[in-house]
Amino acid sequence: MEVLYNSTRSKGVAVKASEAILKGLSEDGGLFVPDHIPQLDIGLKELSGMTYRQVAYEVMKLYLTDYTREELETCIERAYDSKFDTEEIAPLREADGAYYLELFHGATIAFKDMALSILPHLMITAARKNHVKNEIVILTATSGDTGKAALAGFAGVEGTRIVVFYPKNGVSPIQEKQMVTQKGDNTLVVGIHGNFDDAQTGVKKIFSDRELERELREKGFQLSSANSINIGRLVPQICYYVYAYVQLLAKGRISEGEQINVVVPTGNFGNILAAFYAKNMGLPIHKLICASNENKVLYDFFRTGTYDRNREFVLTSSPSMDILISSNLERLIYRIAGEDADRNRERMEALSSQGLYEISPSMKEELKDFYGNYADEKETAAEIKRLYQTCGYVLDTHTAVASAVYRKYIADTHDTVRTVIASTASPFKFTRRVMDAIDERYSAMGDFELVDELSKISGVKVPKAIEEIRTAPVLHNKQCDVDEMKDTLMEFLDL
Ligand SMILES: *Cc1c(COP(=O)(O)O)cnc(C)c1O
Repeated sequence: MEVLYNSTRSKGVAVKASEAILKGLSEDGGLFVPDHIPQLDIGLKELSGMTYRQVAYEVMKLYLTDYTREELETCIERAYDSKFDTEEIAPLREADGAYYLELFHGATIAFKDMALSILPHLMITAARKNHVKNEIVILTATSGDTGKAALAGFAGVEGTRIVVFYPKNGVSPIQEKQMVTQKGDNTLVVGIHGNFDDAQTGVKKIFSDRELERELREKGFQLSSANSINIGRLVPQICYYVYAYVQLLAKGRISEGEQINVVVPTGNFGNILAAFYAKNMGLPIHKLICASNENKVLYDFFRTGTYDRNREFVLTSSPSMDILISSNLERLIYRIAGEDADRNRERMEALSSQGLYEISPSMKEELKDFYGNYADEKETAAEIKRLYQTCGYVLDTHTAVASAVYRKYIADTHDTVRTVIASTASPFKFTRRVMDAIDERYSAMGDFELVDELSKISGVKVPKAIEEIRTAPVLHNKQCDVDEMKDTLMEFLDL
């Protein structure tokens, strides 16, 4: 059955998957959502004998219904190839009774690669299908990992340009180095004087500027988004939850139909929303455990039913989760508001004018599949050390937040359901924080010395993504204020 995409902010919008991917965001400022969540049409047993690429096809075909089989298979083959350093693409690693789903084996060693290695292919296919002649300009705000993954995905892709805005003092040294060394004439990387929310708000503002849109079109450009609000990022993320489940099944760790829990270190709510979609497609998931760092807006939301961003923004050791406005939560709110765009829009308007909104008791009831908690900086560091000492397994800071929250969940509930923890970044991406957590004597070492030391103690080879930036020259040094983002974009397009 064909899936069309509605807007979360107004009734009557219904576009095909390829159009939703091209646009990124609906014109009314809403997010695109499938008009129904399709059900898996193939048994879990059968899926358990498939490769990652095959599973990805079986999931994505259900959402991207206007892509032909051949188009979709080609996109999948181009995305999940030798850019990944393992055939399994997303391997499961058991440690201390939980299963860490390693989503960091792609080009930029963070989970964003799972979606951003396929998005450019989905997008140029969509452009072809919709007879788009304009050059597509990808505009992205990043808290650190999206930026590099999007740059890696779009660099050199004909018919596209990509502009990335990141908070100048809000990303890790390795994240920054990865971005500013990006090659490709069609790329631009800009550090903004503000935090991630400022960057994201600035990008959204550019997207909703109708006059600018007209001007760009006249000059042969059109904007699109590689942020996790694009449905073309959400759909590929559903695949690895299905894959994780069928891997457990293939390994005999669960029986068919047995439920699992999923723990997700959360920022913009995209990754955990994908797990929620997987559950609603019929994947046996018990609890969706939403892990936050000290920016614990979501924990407070699940507890109280009030989403309140009026609080201090904390810079933590898990910068990709330093977010106070979780954009993708809007898709969940829309759903629990009975897919009522008006009710959803009112709340989103309250969020932007007053910084908060409340949900009704019946909506709160709909959230019973979620469990929210958070880990502070101390708990996160302690979890890295604990897991290293007990199992020799080294977690990155984001995954450590999730792992620490999982321990709290067990203490709270005594639940024994098998649990998959989304492992969202390689520890090599956050080497300094990780090594500091393991032993304070590492604090005297230089960044790359630490990388080698981490490799030694974990027995894991230094990833190619890190080797590459050791000596790579800095190619981008542009900075701007938040209110100069639009001008910076225009300059890049020679307008
Ligand atoms: C982006 C990111 C997250 C947060 O994911 P969301 O989909 O934004 O919730 C967590 N960990 C890492 C390493 C990330 O890059």
